[in-house]
Amino acid sequence: IMAPLGKARDDVTQLRKELVECQRSGFVRCRIGQDTFYLEDALSGSNLPSGSVSVVIDRIIMKRAVGDRIADSLRQALEIGEGRAEVEISDKSSGPVKEIFFSEVLRCFSCGSSKDFARRLLGRSLEEVVSLPLKELQEYLENLVTTLDRSTRPEIIAAVRSARELQEHLDVFLDLGLEYLALNSEYPNLSSGEKLKLRLGSVLCKELSGVLYILDEPMSGLPAKEKDLIREEIIALRDAGNTVVLVEHDVESVKRFADYQIELGPGAGQFGGELLRQGFLSKGSLGQTNQRPKRKRNASKASGSHERFRLVGIPLVPVNNLKEKFIELPVSTVIGITGPTGSGKSSLALSILNSLKGAESGRRPGGRRSLETARQKAPPKPFQGKVWFMDDLLPRGSYSSVIATYTGIYRYIAGLFASTPEGRARGITPGFLSLNKKGGRCEMCRGQGFKKVESDFIPPLKLLCDSCLGRRFSNEVMSLTYRGLNLSDVLRLTVTQAATFFRNISAIRRRLEAVERAGLGYLTLGQMIPSLSGGERQRLKLATVIAGDRRNERGLFILDNVTRGLGLEDWENLRGLFEELTDFGHSIIITGNHGRLADLCGWIIEMGPGSGPTEGGKIVFQGVPEH
Ligand SMILES: [Zn+2]
Ligand SMILES: [Zn+2]
Repeated sequence: IMAPLGKARDDVTQLRKELVECQRSGFVRCRIGQDTFYLEDALSGSNLPSGSVSVVIDRIIMKRAVGDRIADSLRQALEIGEGRAEVEISDKSSGPVKEIFFSEVLRCFSCGSSKDFARRLLGRSLEEVVSLPLKELQEYLENLVTTLDRSTRPEIIAAVRSARELQEHLDVFLDLGLEYLALNSEYPNLSSGEKLKLRLGSVLCKELSGVLYILDEPMSGLPAKEKDLIREEIIALRDAGNTVVLVEHDVESVKRFADYQIELGPGAGQFGGELLRQGFLSKGSLGQTNQRPKRKRNASKASGSHERFRLVGIPLVPVNNLKEKFIELPVSTVIGITGPTGSGKSSLALSILNSLKGAESGRRPGGRRSLETARQKAPPKPFQGKVWFMDDLLPRGSYSSVIATYTGIYRYIAGLFASTPEGRARGITPGFLSLNKKGGRCEMCRGQGFKKVESDFIPPLKLLCDSCLGRRFSNEVMSLTYRGLNLSDVLRLTVTQAATFFRNISAIRRRLEAVERAGLGYLTLGQMIPSLSGGERQRLKLATVIAGDRRNERGLFILDNVTRGLGLEDWENLRGLFEELTDFGHSIIITGNHGRLADLCGWIIEMGPGSGPTEGGKIVFQGVPEH
């Protein structure tokens, strides 16, 4: 099993480099032309032998139970060969008998281009077909089916049948409003709403009945029009004889079409988990917890003329479908970017981020044209200050962090424990109490309290650490107490409890109170960051900056998709946080397409007019939202 090297075959230096790399990774043989060499020998001369070069990943003698090894080696070959692999099958006595090429990249194996896929079907090449917007693809297939329908050749009958099947699947995605995507649209570049619809669509395609579907917030973050599309699909699933369990924050939207409701509460986190009520839904059967809370916000904040706002000008850099070159934004304001899925909300936010980051690092942001546009206007002041970008993804390097370490309070807590009389007497340093390095932590679980068991076929399993029984520390550390609690006890406190417990230590209290104000008081200090939901992570990031060491720097927060999965209480918490930030002089940009987004904002930018590369990417409105 081999991996071909050197896309640029003429670049011998590059090829040598790749071979040396392979040698370092522990591979010993390569094939050049038709001959096999030891890497060492091939690299010893000043010139490489001529011919195409592949590194030998594995040599396997066929017998029972080598399946896994073949799969592993082939996978490795595809990785090293950047999607290409070669397999040579040899006979013990007669030598090579067969050679097979594999490619994951829809490309000609030997020249790497797709030009050899020149065959055309109804005037279109495969490459063209996969680039068609789904709507046009549907028309193309329709055309194909009508043209070929009368054929009696068995392979054409089979082709027509699969074209019909493909048409049915496409219908689902067209119904979900994704007509502008193509089969080769790259998944990572899609907006979160588009990804969501794709995932939902691929479930809906299967047309099963008698199946229980559990959909966890499939509609969160989508605008009302698109929610309706998904709602129709869910109703179709039910009518086809399936059961759908829908997990949803937005009680109103459930009320409108669910048949049966199960309500959990009464609060969040440790205050939740109880079944409040369940039963068939009839109008007006919902309890008071679903009433919309009174709006505490002072409406005058958002109203008034444009003159009330101090504007800064930001040249925009191109991102995805964004067509704007320059934007003026008010400072010390919450700015909401809204619009349909795929209209370029996140692209605008990213463009602002990239432009300001570029300015921070001294590069001139934007292209020439954007700078000229900027000059023509009476120039608004450039933006000054720090920029924080907060998405709902796992923060970098936080895979094994807990709330206490992520918020930065753990070093203070460790300091407190080390400076107790007993800690001093035993010569314990704060570093010894670290969760991130060897010392006082339980080494069996590296201070996590559990061990992770991973397998190919089941989701990772967390097992309580049998060495420390979940307490994370050695007995030596466990016997150390501060005001009656040991470190393990402290990590079990909720943020709210800990804020009281450490009320005299301002560095700790300040940080914990910010987390509490973000509506996360129910999290425990020892909770792993990866176990938080996206929204929780985003608000935690925000709270950490607000109360952190750099809290006195004014700047701009960009929160992408902030409204996804927000419960009613969360809206109020977020509003409070935002007010705190803008009062201090920070500016905030949030993106999302929830109908209530404007409630949080003093300024609205609406992207559109449609979705996708041609229809979206323009600012269709910006200004003070109407109430
Ligand atoms: Zn070719
Ligand atoms: Zn342990």
